[in-house]
This record gives sequence, C-alpha cells and structure tokens, in this order.
Amino acid sequence: ATPTALLVGTGRGAQLGILIKGPEILESTRRVDTVVLDKTGTVTQGRMALVDVLAAPGLDREEVLRFAGAVEGRSEHPIARAIAAGARATLTTGGAPEPVEVGADGVPIGEDQVTEFANEPGRGVTGVVRTAHSGVGLGRRVLVGRPSWLREQGVDTTALDTAFTAAEADGATAVMAAWSGSARGVLVLRDPVKPTSVQAVAELRALGLRPVLLTGDNAGAARVVAGQVGIDEVIAEVLPADKVDVVTRLQSEGRVVAMVGDGVNDAAALAQADLGLAMGTGTDVAMQAADITLVRGDLLASSQAIRLSRRTLRIIK
Ligand code: ADP
Ligand code: MG
Repeated sequence: ATPTALLVGTGRGAQLGILIKGPEILESTRRVDTVVLDKTGTVTQGRMALVDVLAAPGLDREEVLRFAGAVEGRSEHPIARAIAAGARATLTTGGAPEPVEVGADGVPIGEDQVTEFANEPGRGVTGVVRTAHSGVGLGRRVLVGRPSWLREQGVDTTALDTAFTAAEADGATAVMAAWSGSARGVLVLRDPVKPTSVQAVAELRALGLRPVLLTGDNAGAARVVAGQVGIDEVIAEVLPADKVDVVTRLQSEGRVVAMVGDGVNDAAALAQADLGLAMGTGTDVAMQAADITLVRGDLLASSQAIRLSRRTLRIIK
C-alpha cells in the first residue's frame, strides 16, 4: 500500500470531522459487513424527555417525582437527567423560604438530601432521600430503575406492572420508582431519533452493511426506534457488560462487525469490533476504545467514514 494515499485519506477524514486513529485502520473497513448501532445517544438524541408520571393508588405524582428526582439528580444517565430536570421544572417551590429544620443527624432538611447513593449500570439507581416536604426526617430508601431489578431487591411491583407494560408497549422508555417494599410510580420517557439517522441507516445499507440495533432498553422502545430508522434486526435488554458478547457472537457467526456507540457501556464492544466508531458527543472512554471518532456525533458520518476509507483503499489498488 502507498502510505501517501492512506495519509491523504485520513487527512480528508479530519476535514469532515472523522478522526481516524491511524492509516492502518482504513484496511479494517474493507470487509465489514455488519454495523451494530447503539440506540441511546447514537441513533437517538440521547436526550430523554420525561413525558408522564404515574402514581400508585393513593399517592400523588408530585411525591413520586420528588423522590425519584432527588435520587436521579446524582446520576449522569440520560434517563436520570430527564427525571431530575422534570422534577426541577415541576416542583418549583413558590412563596417564602421555609425555616430550616435539622434532622436527627444534624443535617438541614430544608432541601432534599440524598445519601448512600448507588448506581447499578443498566439496572437503576438507589439512595436514601430526606426531604422537608414529606416529613421524612430519617430518610427513605428509594429505588428507580427496571422492574426486574426492583423485584430482585425485594420490591413488590404488582400495583404498577400493567401501567409499566402499557407504557413500554407504546414505545416509551419507562422506569419504576419504589420505596418501603412497593412500587410507587412509573416515569415515562421518550428520546427522539436524530434527524439524520434515517438517511444514515439507508446509506449504511447502500454500502452493503446489515444494520443491527443494540440496546439495554426494553424491546418495545427498541423496536419503535428501529422501525423509525429502517432497521429490522434488534437486540434489546442487553446489560452493559454483555454488549461486547453480542459483538463476539456476531463475529463467531462469520460476520465482520463495525460498532457505533457513545457510552461508557459501549467501550468494550467498540474495542472488540473489527471497526469501532465513537460519537464525539459521547464519553471519553468510548472515544479511547474506538478506531474512529465522529466529531459531530452525527450517525451520517459513520457511512461517510466507511465510504471514504473504501475509496482511499481503491485508489491504492
Ligand atoms: P442503552 O444501552 O440504551 O444506552 P443502558 O444500558 O444505559 O441503555 O440502560 C438500560 C436500562 O437500565 C434503562 O433503559 C433503564 O431501564 C435502566 N437504567 C439505567 N440507568 C438508570 C437510571 N439512572 N435510572 C433508572 N433506570 C436506569
Ligand atoms: Mg448509548
């Protein structure tokens, strides 16, 4: 191969916002026949919006939102950001500031307080919330996440199982909030597809690649997004640590795999793929693991990158 042409190819890529780690990477684009696309933040905007809050019988939605919002305020996950933002927007306290009370541990309870926070990647979050608003001076252990995870933690979800299933069947992403052993609310979110994702998938197909949508989200939401962008192969409800195994399995079936992702949970899969492409709008870990960074975070750049690489290789031949 003529190194000059390869360097020209990588230089042209840089102009387009396609950062290729080294000229040798162009070679990997030649045989790629499958492109695995992470859903959240890659095909979709990754900016979830909270569209509905459902409360268990006898509870009000404000209480669900206050407790779920307090715990999610500690997480960076797109779901967490949407719930925390929704809580802030809805629960604006009007009037004069309340006098500052002091809890049993001496912590002021004029504001919602979260301690013992824990994040279970791909499952949910938990923390102990103290709030001035509901007189929970000693704190309440709140969990927000997948119902299957809540049940593993001993939560009875039956009161809200039907509402949850209906939200998912409608193509939304839904999580449950729980405390004191029972599900207390369902938080319903939507994450719009990026405007260029439809064209990007069409272009990837035109390059002879089979698109596969991969996500930790529920099968219903995954299928709705897949339908919107024209993907028929969907692998949903995959835990973060298992995304890499999906890539390995496809490779063991003889497929040569490109993977496009943005999250910490995509890093291992990006490294395992024959060609890893990271969204420049995503996490540093994903970019470090990938061969190519798409600076603009636009899926259209993934087809441009593969087309550019193949054209560069053709010039060399
Ligand atoms: P993706 O693969 O689409 O980027 P993740 O693997 O990050 O999604 O999350 C998968 C699922 O885990 C979510 O759809 C949600 O049910 C649950 N989950 C993860 N993080 C949180 C959180 N902070 N709050 C509530 N649920 C969460
Ligand atoms: Mg993602």
